[in-house]
Amino acid sequence: MPMSEKALIARIRRKAVPGRSIVTGIGDDSAVLKIPKGHQALVTTDFSLEGVHFRREWHPPESVGHRCLARGLSDIAAMGGEPVAAFLSLALPRKLPQKWVDGFMRGFLRLADEYGVSLAGGDTAESPTGVLADIIVLGSVPTGKVILRSGARPGDRIYVTGQLGASAATLKLLLEGKSRIRPSNFRRHFYPVPRIDVGRFLREKNLASAMIDISDGLSTDLAHICEESGVGAEILEQAIPKATIGKPAHAVDIRFALHSGEDYELLFTAQQGKRIPSRIAGVGITQIGQIQRTKNIVMINERGTARELRPQGWQHFHTR
Ligand code: ADP
Ligand code: MG
Repeated sequence: MPMSEKALIARIRRKAVPGRSIVTGIGDDSAVLKIPKGHQALVTTDFSLEGVHFRREWHPPESVGHRCLARGLSDIAAMGGEPVAAFLSLALPRKLPQKWVDGFMRGFLRLADEYGVSLAGGDTAESPTGVLADIIVLGSVPTGKVILRSGARPGDRIYVTGQLGASAATLKLLLEGKSRIRPSNFRRHFYPVPRIDVGRFLREKNLASAMIDISDGLSTDLAHICEESGVGAEILEQAIPKATIGKPAHAVDIRFALHSGEDYELLFTAQQGKRIPSRIAGVGITQIGQIQRTKNIVMINERGTARELRPQGWQHFHTR
């Protein structure tokens, strides 16, 4: 059983290192934070629910804590922002071992440390069902420099970071009951890397006209950019970077790369003529198509045949 609420908060407080932006973190009724001069605040929140986003029999607690924070950091990355502080609301079942909570916090705080994010508060309660974790991440971005979903214009090129489909392809193996799923061979599912460094680079160099993180799948998230920007898109099936997973490594099915989320790669557009490096912060960047005036999304296959790409995001490969 987890230790008492008071003891648990004290333990979390000992492990959370307050950073530069934190005037007062854990321990008061509200956190007091500094936003750098000439910056705007970014705020994002995401649920991680047992049975929906993770399963305790599949995911080590370190992975659950890591993924919980990674979701929030990825949203900050997608705006071109810098993460500043995180808030964690946790509801834990009475029978949950304290060891599990410790593992969760270890995964969470390790990632927080890596990105200089301070855990500055949260809430703790008993859950009548499974583990529920709600993360809030506060970030900052120089005033007026934020990269929105709504900035894509006809003629802009479309890019993605990294490779797509690893997370959902791994989930499928888990669903099929494959026992030899070692998290270390499937890191993109268990320990996804939020693309903070890429987002920062694109913002600093003024390269991206619109951006989103791929949390629901390329087809769905590209549709979000198109809707918000009032445009359409044409992408090339062959250009889509399919992830490889497992050991020995094999490429995932194109459907995972197109329609599944939780890879937390970035999808962005840039004006034609902007020079986009083929690697940014060690991450490969691939051009996959271009924005068009006609408000639909089409994919062209290797034979040159165009077909409409409908958003078929997360429902298909979701854990439920
Ligand atoms: P209150 O009753 O005023 O909400 P709490 O007793 O819930 O205060 O929390 C005390 C302090 O501990 C607050 O600063 C709160 O932000 C922090 N806190 C509570 N739960 C967590 C958690 N799971 N992670 C991080 N900080 C937490
Ligand atoms: Mg409280």
